[in-house]
Amino acid sequence: MELAQPEHFECFHCHKIFLGRVYEVVRERSRLHFDGRVAHVESDNFRGLECYCSRACLDARVDRVMAREHVPATYPGRSRIANCAICHASVDRSAFHVAYLATLSEPIDATTWDTVELDYLAVLCETCSTSKKRSNEDDLLMNFPSLK
Ligand SMILES: [Zn+2]
Ligand SMILES: [Zn+2]
Repeated sequence: MELAQPEHFECFHCHKIFLGRVYEVVRERSRLHFDGRVAHVESDNFRGLECYCSRACLDARVDRVMAREHVPATYPGRSRIANCAICHASVDRSAFHVAYLATLSEPIDATTWDTVELDYLAVLCETCSTSKKRSNEDDLLMNFPSLK
């Protein structure tokens, strides 16, 4: 993804250049607030892994993306307690943790994007999310086009 021109994307699956709505698979460190009826997500370390022109293209790629991350997609839903995708330990999602998500974002104006759909692919416990060496992971992600 080229951040200097956020309105232009190339689909990782069909390689179409497209504008506007974008589907993404992202890895983020986030926590959920359950004090209201709807969980509010607070996140940092948000990192888009791949972007797609359609849900069909996302679905076609998601298994491969998660395999590359060595994290199985477990679709944990939105409950407060979920199981780590790797070791199945309980993860309290009101505390910061690493999550993988499939999102659909829409531009509101030139600089503001709104996430209109969000599916959780996996959550990781603290042990599993820190077991990989950070530097190796960053190298892998920076070079990810070559891993297709
Ligand atoms: Zn596509
Ligand atoms: Zn774990």
